[in-house]
Amino acid sequence: MHDDVERILFSEQEILGGIDRVAAEVTEAYRGVDFTVVSVLKGSCVFASDLIRRIPIPLELAFVSAQSYREGTTSGELEVNYFPAGDEIEGRTLLLVDDILDTGRTLQALTDELTRRGARDVRSCVFLDKPSRRAVSFEADFKVFEVEDLFVVGYGLDYAGRYRNLPFVGGLRPEVLTSAAAGADRVDV
Ligand code: 5GP
Ligand code: MG
Repeated sequence: MHDDVERILFSEQEILGGIDRVAAEVTEAYRGVDFTVVSVLKGSCVFASDLIRRIPIPLELAFVSAQSYREGTTSGELEVNYFPAGDEIEGRTLLLVDDILDTGRTLQALTDELTRRGARDVRSCVFLDKPSRRAVSFEADFKVFEVEDLFVVGYGLDYAGRYRNLPFVGGLRPEVLTSAAAGADRVDV
């Protein structure tokens, strides 16, 4: 698995340093506020679990699950297949946590839907931001790192379901990206 990675963009140590910084920002923003971290499955589970353990104020945790119909490494139509229960959304202050902000469609759609379902305040925190790829005008309130327009894996981010368990973020070798595994057209975000 490690041999498929061409270069490492963020090491495990750099990642944890970046998360310390963002966790402090989130802590200041939500001090004294009753809020819920909503982790977008599957990609953000690694980031969310490191992030929440660095936020030393009370919070609740919830999950939302979305899938995107896509071709290869570009995102397509979003289908949300799991939402938190109504009382976990209605009147609540939510912080959506996602692995990467790419076109912005996922977080825009989730923010709109959670607001429609009665959330009082919805902000977002992303591990990575690829501003060059934005298709809708959505910006995250908190972000750890910006990345260039390159398909990355590791630290929760997958390619064809794999590589989420790499402890760092890296770019795959071109041969891997064009191999037979590229068939999946319905993927967890
Ligand atoms: P958006 O809706 O912002 O276009 O896409 C967000 C989702 O696309 C992410 O949650 C992630 O699943 C996927 N995605 C976008 N860029 C990358 C990338 O570079 N690597 C991986 N593994 N997934 C990506
Ligand atoms: Mg994904």
